[in-house]
Amino acid sequence: MSIQKPKGTQDLLPGEIEKWQYVESKARELCQRFNYREIRTPVFEHTELFQRGVGETTDIVEKEMYTFLDKGDRSISLRPEGTAGVVRSYVENKLYGEPDVSKLYYVGPMFRYEQPQSGRYRQFHQFGIEAIGSVDPSLDAEVIALGYTFYREIGIKDVTVEINSVGNPSVRAAYREHIQQFFAPVKDQLCKDCQSRYERNPMRILDCKIDQKYCEGAPTIVEHLDEECRTHFARVQQYLTALGVPFRLNPRLVRGLDYYTHTAFEYKAAGIGAIDTIGGGGRYNGLVGQIGGQDQPGVGLALGMERILLVLQAQGADIPAEKPLDVYLIGLGEAAETRIVGLLHELRLEGLTAEKDYQSRKLKAQMKSADRYKAAYVGILGDNELEKGEIAVKALATGEQETLSLSEFARTLAARQRG
Ligand code: AMP
Repeated sequence: MSIQKPKGTQDLLPGEIEKWQYVESKARELCQRFNYREIRTPVFEHTELFQRGVGETTDIVEKEMYTFLDKGDRSISLRPEGTAGVVRSYVENKLYGEPDVSKLYYVGPMFRYEQPQSGRYRQFHQFGIEAIGSVDPSLDAEVIALGYTFYREIGIKDVTVEINSVGNPSVRAAYREHIQQFFAPVKDQLCKDCQSRYERNPMRILDCKIDQKYCEGAPTIVEHLDEECRTHFARVQQYLTALGVPFRLNPRLVRGLDYYTHTAFEYKAAGIGAIDTIGGGGRYNGLVGQIGGQDQPGVGLALGMERILLVLQAQGADIPAEKPLDVYLIGLGEAAETRIVGLLHELRLEGLTAEKDYQSRKLKAQMKSADRYKAAYVGILGDNELEKGEIAVKALATGEQETLSLSEFARTLAARQRG
């Protein structure tokens, strides 16, 4: 039996990959405008990083991590998200204050052992940003605005931004008790996971799909914010308004990662069946210290690439597809075939996209290939033309034919295609 790809993974094939390249290039270009610089960290890290960073009682760490012992008996995990690795690298490479706030972005694969469905995979890709080194609420707003602008600029319609404040550690400790008191009477009716969450991480019950019926009327964390948290949250909202980013307050928004403090947010859009969250993020003021660095506040986001592409497709957005060829070259006879190898290279050095046949096929089959590649021009070189130092050129769109001198051929077509 032939070997198939592991469950929950995808092959991104030519034809589809152009859409990915388009979305990724938009991400890079937008980050440049907002002054975020790229960082690439390993796809695997010491398991402890995610236990400390993402949180030991989160579903991601408890159930979804690809963890294994390497040949040196070290516990290694494939990264389930990007922030912990970036923060580890920030601390390890002492990026503090370089040159000011460290504004970083990444694009790459993440791994979670989840039940695959439309929009949910075991290997998926995120575009994310991290801004480390400031508590300024205008930075929270900037991060939210960058994500919103990105969705808009790549052509996703009707993106909703939901925000909440999840408070600081002391607010959360007090809130934890309120939430435990609230769920105490129904504790035994909660799902198995939530019964354990009740002791270990009760806020996460609010995020449980099964137990939504018990969440009705639960106290919200925003009702319990202290002065510092309230002020920060109010400022974030003022800045978002100044930035023209529409948002909705969602007091039930808790995220699946433990490191968030103050601002938490999600982006939603319709088009992927049951799933509507396409990205999210928040502030993480304790994380750098937790990972072992001198403490620095941070804020970031992560947007799922697969979900972006699914929404674009569902919304019928116009994404650039495969780029057509500029020139397809055909050589008839051995001498001409040798000459077109040189010509092909000349075209490519001139910056054109050019191709030829590699299977000794007949003229008709080669013309078909040129059509399939949507070539702008076909150059046909036979012995006669070769002797005269010329080449026959056909524009496929119009059928117009002409003869060009071999020495001018590449330059002439390059000048035309550059337009
Ligand atoms: P999270 O780190 O869980 O907040 O996820 C941020 C974003 O990554 C989500 O909004 C999704 O767009 C994407 N994402 C998370 N998990 C998956 C997955 N298993 N498959 C595809 N995309 C995912």
